[in-house]
Amino acid sequence: MKACGLNQHVGSDPVTFRQWKEAFRQRLGVLYEQAEADSLFYWSVEEITGISKARLLAEMEQPVPLKSVPLLKSVLQRLEKAEPVQYVFGKAFFAGMELRVGPGVLIPRPETEELFQWACESLPLSGHSASARILDLCTGSGALALALAKTFPDAQVYACDLSSIALSTAGRNAHDLGLSVRLFQHDVLEGNLPESVVAGGPFQLMVSNPPYVLPSEKDLMRSNVLDYEPDMALFVDEEDPLAFYRALARIARAHLAPGGFFLAEINESFPRENKDLLVAAGFEEVEVRHDFRGKHRMVRARMPLFI
Ligand code: GLN
Repeated sequence: MKACGLNQHVGSDPVTFRQWKEAFRQRLGVLYEQAEADSLFYWSVEEITGISKARLLAEMEQPVPLKSVPLLKSVLQRLEKAEPVQYVFGKAFFAGMELRVGPGVLIPRPETEELFQWACESLPLSGHSASARILDLCTGSGALALALAKTFPDAQVYACDLSSIALSTAGRNAHDLGLSVRLFQHDVLEGNLPESVVAGGPFQLMVSNPPYVLPSEKDLMRSNVLDYEPDMALFVDEEDPLAFYRALARIARAHLAPGGFFLAEINESFPRENKDLLVAAGFEEVEVRHDFRGKHRMVRARMPLFI
C-alpha cells in the first residue's frame, strides 16, 4: 500500500480519511503516542460525521465530506494545543456511562474505574448492600457516585464537592442518566458534614478521589492535564500531602457504620503513609492496591465491627 504522508499534498489540506489520520499522527506526534493520536482521530471523526470507527476502517480511502472539514480542522487545532479531547467534545466515559465534563471539572480516569470496581466488591461485604447509604467525597463530575448509584439502585447515594462547577456538572450528569444522587457543597478540609446528610444515619460505604498531586510533580505531568484541568482537583500542599486523607479518615471514623468500608485513590508515592494513617485512625483490614499501570493507587479500610 502506498504511504500517505503529508508531503504528498504540501500546501493543500488532507482529503481522504486516511490522509486526515496521517495529519493527526503528524501534528499530534509531539504530544501523543501514535495509538493515542489514532484514537483521537477516530473519536473526532465519529463526533463530527457520525461515522463509527468500525465503519470508517472500511472507508479510509473516501474523502471526508466537505461540510465536516472545517470542524475537523478546528478540532485538530485545539488538540494540537493539548486541549483534552474530553473538553473539546464536552464528554468523557466512565464505567460504561457517558458523562459531561468541561473546564473546571476533572476528567474521570481509568484508574478511578478500578477504585469503583473495588467499591462494588466491598459494599456487599458490609452486610447492607441493598438499602446502603453511600457517600462520595470530592465527586467532581460525579463519576464514582453515579456509577455506584447505577450499580446499587436501592442505595441512597450522597456526593459532595467544594467546587460549584463540579456540583452543577454532577447534577446535570445525574439528570441526564436518570440517577438520583444527593449533592451538597462541602469542603472536606473544613468542619463537619451537614446535619441534613448525617441525620439519615451512618454510611456503609465512603469513597473519595481527592486531590493528591504534589506541585513538585508538575514536571512529570503532560500539558493536556497541567494547562487545562483544574488545579483545585489535582494539587495539594507540598508540605502536607496527606491533609485530605487525615480529614477523610476523620469523617469516615465519625460516619461509617460498623463493618463499613472507606476507599480512596492515593498518590503512588505514599502507600505506606496512607496505610499507617488509616491504621492509626483505628481502621481494620487496611489494604493498598495497584492500578493497571502497576502503581500503588488505592487504599481500602474497614470500620471495626465492634467499636
Ligand atoms: N490521577 C490524576 C492525575 O494523574 C490525579 C487525580 C487526583 O489528584 N485525584 O492527573
